[in-house]
Amino acid sequence: MTAAVTPPAALKPGELGAGDKLFAGEWRFLGAASSMVTLLPPRGVELALAGRSNVGKSSLVNALTGRHALARVSHTPGRTQELIFFTANEAWKLVDMPGYGYAAAPKAKVAAWTGLIEAYLRGRTNLARVYVLIDARHGIKSADGPVFDLLDEAAVSYQVALTKADEVSAAALTDRIAATAALLAKRKAAFPEILATSSRTGFGLPEMRAAMARVVAERGAKN
Ligand code: GDP
Repeated sequence: MTAAVTPPAALKPGELGAGDKLFAGEWRFLGAASSMVTLLPPRGVELALAGRSNVGKSSLVNALTGRHALARVSHTPGRTQELIFFTANEAWKLVDMPGYGYAAAPKAKVAAWTGLIEAYLRGRTNLARVYVLIDARHGIKSADGPVFDLLDEAAVSYQVALTKADEVSAAALTDRIAATAALLAKRKAAFPEILATSSRTGFGLPEMRAAMARVVAERGAKN
């Protein structure tokens, strides 16, 4: 039972509506890139999702966009090492980053992942924020450390969103949020608020959409 937990984002009136608006429209697969050469031109604001394999990233893409098979493309063999771009409207693009930390991944593939992701994170001027997904049951694991390091070094703003919140009790979720925030407190580019979501129940999804809308609005105003 997670209903008693108030999602931490302090929302102003109207922000939930802005979140709905951000996700309005017909979501579609825009393109994929396996190298910087094949990357789409940096137009429009981008928000990216990253996380360990099996964290629930595809489920979250589908739940946030309301398109049940949208992220199937990210699990297609051959596409699992690519940056996948989705779009629904002119305002922004959602970028699905390859899952990491999968122990059985061949070494060459892991290296390709690192090269592409490093280059993307360091050079993508229109990337406004990366949402790093963490399983609410397990918390931050050793495989997540290098990703936080890279984001800090590249000075890319990032925020942790817990997934599978339905799998833990309200008390455990509150503790996990506090522990996660404490682990990130000294990290330079980490946003201090932790989001909590469940693709299965819909918990925290309006709040995550609203948080994303805020980032897009802020970045859009600067461009
Ligand atoms: P990905 O590898 O990160 O894209 O993860 P998937 O979206 O494929 O999900 C991995 C597994 O976690 C699947 O068995 C999903 O059914 C399960 N899962 C994903 N989201 C949730 C959630 O919100 N709650 C629960 N209980 N399970 C979830």
